[in-house]
Amino acid sequence: MPKNGLYDSHCHLIFREYPIPTEEIVQQARFSKLTTLLNVSTDLKTSEQVQNLSVENDGFIKSFIGVDPQEVIPNPEHFMGLDLTSKDFKQIKQSLKDILDKQKDTIIGIGETGMDFYWIKELDSETQAKSKFLQEKLFILHIEIANDNVLPLTIHSRGAESECLDLMLNNAINTRGIFHSFTGNYQQAKNIIESGNGLGVNGIFTFKNAQNLREVYRKLVGKVSKDTDPEYFYKKGIFFETDSPFLAPEGKRGEINYPANVADIYKAFVNFLSNN
Ligand SMILES: [Zn+2]
Repeated sequence: MPKNGLYDSHCHLIFREYPIPTEEIVQQARFSKLTTLLNVSTDLKTSEQVQNLSVENDGFIKSFIGVDPQEVIPNPEHFMGLDLTSKDFKQIKQSLKDILDKQKDTIIGIGETGMDFYWIKELDSETQAKSKFLQEKLFILHIEIANDNVLPLTIHSRGAESECLDLMLNNAINTRGIFHSFTGNYQQAKNIIESGNGLGVNGIFTFKNAQNLREVYRKLVGKVSKDTDPEYFYKKGIFFETDSPFLAPEGKRGEINYPANVADIYKAFVNFLSNN
């Protein structure tokens, strides 16, 4: 059985990929004894929709609001463009603040934010530079909102772990963040934890080819007993998530992922660390 106190620290419930209604997703999660689901927005539209989600589910779902860095990476579906100006950023910031002001009881954090240098590495150098510039501006804007409201961040840092941590060290005053879906190296993991920020473990940890990532956590945490509670890891700055509907764990790879699967991810994590 999953341990008491386990929750999904990063999932996307407003995405249209799910073939079942949200009530069923929530039912599965409650059945798996999760205590809460932290729903993460990726643009202004999904940020505006978080209120109903929480009300309809008696507060079981809490939300993060933000504009994902991937919105400024050329991509046919979501791309906002590379010609955003300071005025556009001011508007994004104002919109997020307005949403937050109206929904303080539902919104408990800011994100998905951060930077992603993985998806731009194939692009020409000029496009890369423009995207990086905008991603950084967008990330700082989120850190500022988090500072002003003393809220935590959920940080996307794929291929940009050190750069994201640097921006946090230089700009975060009243906030800390979880580097969700962390896949960096041991030194980066250590720096993140030592700076008072956290790491998010998800289905990637269970993938056959993720031995390096498992070793990062082995080195970071050491041996634990099989009945270790989530609280033990939370205190160390390690959190568990699904990133649903993406990144279903090994055995379910390629399928739609659900928050209930965080119980499997937690089990795989503890099993690995207890079999040292
Ligand atoms: Zn995500």
